[in-house]
Amino acid sequence: MSKKDIAWSDLGFGYIKTDKRYVSNFKDGKWDDGTLTDDDMIIMSECAGVLQYAQTVFEGLKAYETKDGKIVTFRPDLNADRMIDSAKRLEMPPFPKGRFIDAVKQVVDANRDYVPPYGSGATLYIRPYMFGINPVIGVKPADDYQFRIFATPVGPYFKGGAKPITVKISDFDRAAPKGTGNIKAGLNYAMSLHAIVTAHNEGFAENIYLDSATRTKIEETGGANIIFVDADGNIVIPKSDSILPSITRRSLAIVAEKYLGLKVDQREVTLSEVMSGQFKECGLCGTAAVISPVGRINDHGKEFTFEAGMESMGKVTQKLYDTLTGIQMGTIEAPEGWIYEI
Ligand SMILES: *Cc1c(COP(=O)(O)O)cnc(C)c1O
Repeated sequence: MSKKDIAWSDLGFGYIKTDKRYVSNFKDGKWDDGTLTDDDMIIMSECAGVLQYAQTVFEGLKAYETKDGKIVTFRPDLNADRMIDSAKRLEMPPFPKGRFIDAVKQVVDANRDYVPPYGSGATLYIRPYMFGINPVIGVKPADDYQFRIFATPVGPYFKGGAKPITVKISDFDRAAPKGTGNIKAGLNYAMSLHAIVTAHNEGFAENIYLDSATRTKIEETGGANIIFVDADGNIVIPKSDSILPSITRRSLAIVAEKYLGLKVDQREVTLSEVMSGQFKECGLCGTAAVISPVGRINDHGKEFTFEAGMESMGKVTQKLYDTLTGIQMGTIEAPEGWIYEI
């Protein structure tokens, strides 16, 4: 097999149709055997549950080539677990963990030629998702579901270096205290679109959402968890039941403790301590960027610029970034069970 003729480094974060995708259907109370298919189209009832009441959850992970030419994914078992949690919260039948991991492997293997070469910075983005597919008009969970995984090559997140961004404190809420903020559901993104378009129109790269009950505590952005570095160089992670448990952030916490010897404190973080300069560095964590440095926060016109400034990542953020990407790319030894070879 040979790699597709794609300008890997020029790729953005967009959809490109690849050769194969995985489909399994839930009908009569059970999942069928599932299969790979060429067919990228979905035909469903005009009244499908997903179209009427947004009964859908998803995941996101990457496959990539390591330095020694292996194709791997990073901790797909945690994506499987999280999708089970998401499905249960929306009254959907969980897709079994073992089958999820196997399906990820099948999709990556069938699209090996689309896995960008080591060093290009590009990756194969993998999107598992499931949705209610039978007609639902009275409000209730669907009876039938479809689980799918497709893969699409995406470009390097940082083209020409990781420049710190300016983020605003949003006037909108992302998640209610006992809501769905802690699961990966499409509905959380639908309601964030107006907030992100508003932020972009005002010249900000992202929104930081506060806890919706008191609007005093830091939660996360629309699609990434937040970490801070305190004055002693240790890591502080905001704690809240309505934050989506990012696999990148949980992995970075382990990297910080086990590889860099830093302390990691997960606790409530108030907006006022951030704006009064308690932290030296700030980063946004997620699969796409690993860590994206935040240089400045704007709270209704009041600005705070982190010590690392607007030109480059802070020192600790950079170490975390280098260590985790080194683990992912096979240049630093990974903890047991983190890397799945395809
Ligand atoms: C997916 C997601 C993240 C990042 O999670 P990773 O597992 O690290 O990719 C963070 N916040 C939200 C709201 C998300 O949907």
